[in-house]
Amino acid sequence: MSGVLHTSGKTLGRCMCIITGASKGFGHALAQLVSSYLKPGSVLLLDARSGPLLLELKEELQQSLKGRQNLTIDFAAADLSTKEGVEDTVNMARQMSLKEFDHVLLVNNAASLGDISSFERFTELNRVNSYLALNVSSVLALTAGVLQAFPPQAGLRWSVVNCSSMFALQAMPSWVLYCTAKAAREMMFRVLAAENPKVKVLSYSPGPMDTEMQKDIQRLTGIHYHLHPCMESATKLMGVLLDNDFATGSHLDFFEL
Ligand code: NAP
Repeated sequence: MSGVLHTSGKTLGRCMCIITGASKGFGHALAQLVSSYLKPGSVLLLDARSGPLLLELKEELQQSLKGRQNLTIDFAAADLSTKEGVEDTVNMARQMSLKEFDHVLLVNNAASLGDISSFERFTELNRVNSYLALNVSSVLALTAGVLQAFPPQAGLRWSVVNCSSMFALQAMPSWVLYCTAKAAREMMFRVLAAENPKVKVLSYSPGPMDTEMQKDIQRLTGIHYHLHPCMESATKLMGVLLDNDFATGSHLDFFEL
């Protein structure tokens, strides 16, 4: 693991943690890291479409945490671009709601790059809607569902991470889908932060990482960013979550931390 956490024994507490897009890339690295900062009684719910990859991760985590009792790792093989996928994930989380937690952590990480194409080519409503279903709508519906399942209240820390991007803030020609979705998510979570002070909301821009999404970027655009290992970025986010002194609704960038 690259990067060092100066956290002096801090943990995420007895936590209900949900990570979407945990089958690969940044979400996978974050799940590996999070699992070592959960107190006994915690639940880690991993979400993505690829069930076999989630099962593999679950088994790997269980193996590496062998000595640690009382940590439930589960997964939802769900397509979050569909109503059923969002509902199944919320229902799996809700099944845990009778357990006692002192922290709910939802990491909205799953996303897709979408077509990289000039603006005037996006004439088909279904094509646009299908992109927004995963990258915007599911994020709102999932977060709302989990908020209902675990109502924010005194004594319960509530954190939501939105995996953002510099393209939430910066317009990039031909990236209208990705930029639009990331900008919408940013505002979505600023609204949540303004509306509910019991929920701490963070938009984290993880920086250019060595993932499948970056392979697609290289293939489709020829752009080669200097890439960082996912674990380096996950470690920075973890430090922010453990310190818990970020301002709710803020946007933090890998390069600022
Ligand atoms: P990635 O390698 O493409 O992984 C995306 C994850 O989302 C996978 O686990 C994928 O799993 C899941 N996913 C995709 N479609 C899904 C669907 N319909 N339903 C459920 N899960 C779905 O992406 P990444 O590079 O790790 O990116 C992680 C986050 O960081 C994203 O929000 C991305 O926008 C952001 N980001 C990435 C970079 C970068 O350089 N990579 C830079 C800035 C921001 P399945 O295929 O198994 O469903």
